[in-house]
Amino acid sequence: MNIQKIEQILKDQKQPKFRLGQIKKAVYRDGISSFAEISTIPKELRSVLEKEKILSFEVEKVLVSKDGNSAKALLKLDDASKIETVLISPKENIWSVCISSQVGCPMNCAFCATGQTGFKRNLTAEEIVDQVLFWKQYLMKHETCNMKQKINSKLKLSNVVYMGMGEPFLNWGEVLESLKILSDPKGMAFGSRSISISTVGIPGGIEKLTQDFPQVNLAVSLHFSKDKNRNEFMPANKNLNLEKLKVELEKYFEKSSRKVFLEYIMFSGLNDSEKDAKNLLEYIKSFKKPQLLHVNLIRYNSTDSKDKFISSSAEQAVKFRNYLLGNKINCTIRRSLGTDIEGACGQLAGKK
Ligand code: SF4
Repeated sequence: MNIQKIEQILKDQKQPKFRLGQIKKAVYRDGISSFAEISTIPKELRSVLEKEKILSFEVEKVLVSKDGNSAKALLKLDDASKIETVLISPKENIWSVCISSQVGCPMNCAFCATGQTGFKRNLTAEEIVDQVLFWKQYLMKHETCNMKQKINSKLKLSNVVYMGMGEPFLNWGEVLESLKILSDPKGMAFGSRSISISTVGIPGGIEKLTQDFPQVNLAVSLHFSKDKNRNEFMPANKNLNLEKLKVELEKYFEKSSRKVFLEYIMFSGLNDSEKDAKNLLEYIKSFKKPQLLHVNLIRYNSTDSKDKFISSSAEQAVKFRNYLLGNKINCTIRRSLGTDIEGACGQLAGKK
């Protein structure tokens, strides 16, 4: 929702200041899909607002997984750019939204469909928040059979993760604005601890988070624990190698003492051997407070049959996890959701 535009309309219509609060509540809290549905504002104002769209994009496609536990939407922005957003239910009655912060991504990670499409532009705060709003409206409409089975009166979006297309710290100004709206008690009212920002590691990025919005969770897409491999598959490592990343994280721990999640996508034969687990252990143990790091193992979601990256087997993931747990490192295997809806970031938007 374009708040500035709504404010201007209210001013032009000589409406009292509290009208904005009524509109925000109806849109952000109650999840209405059209301004015409707001029963708390005068009819004349409704008919003026009715001409405005709530969402800043058109919904091109929504794919729902067979098990009804995840859905992915392809959204077309005003300039015809396309982005993706994903809804996931990791547990009964818990719904998480994964949102994009950029159109494409300049970081060029070799295994990522978004990275392969290149970078087009940053998203505005409105376009970022509207992805969450879209899923809220979608769930309220109970649009699909698969989803219906999972939805009941306890329906609630529980978490938001900035883990879709783009690197959030490269669009920090707009991401920060979106965080303010998402966490505003008069806005979408997400608790800060229900929001996570995921980064590959950008010089100064973690520091910005510590200064501007320390309450949200931080996740780092690590994937490899040796610079040689990280440089090869994640060019961002050339600007912030593992040692420098550690320095940024140690500073974060000095100020926040909050747990940081290390995301580790598992690729068969590339980063899933016992030696790789040892290297990761060594890296984590080199921190002053290794107990503040939590490893999330995610088996790779292949983009197509010609994909040169192959997912690690479930057995290998368990072995890897057990090795870390046996060495007192916090570690979980994240369930792979949405493999039948091209669940990995950028797989849908990258299609012609
Ligand atoms: S994995 Fe994340 S940072 Fe890397 S290219 Fe994809 S979207 Fe960008």
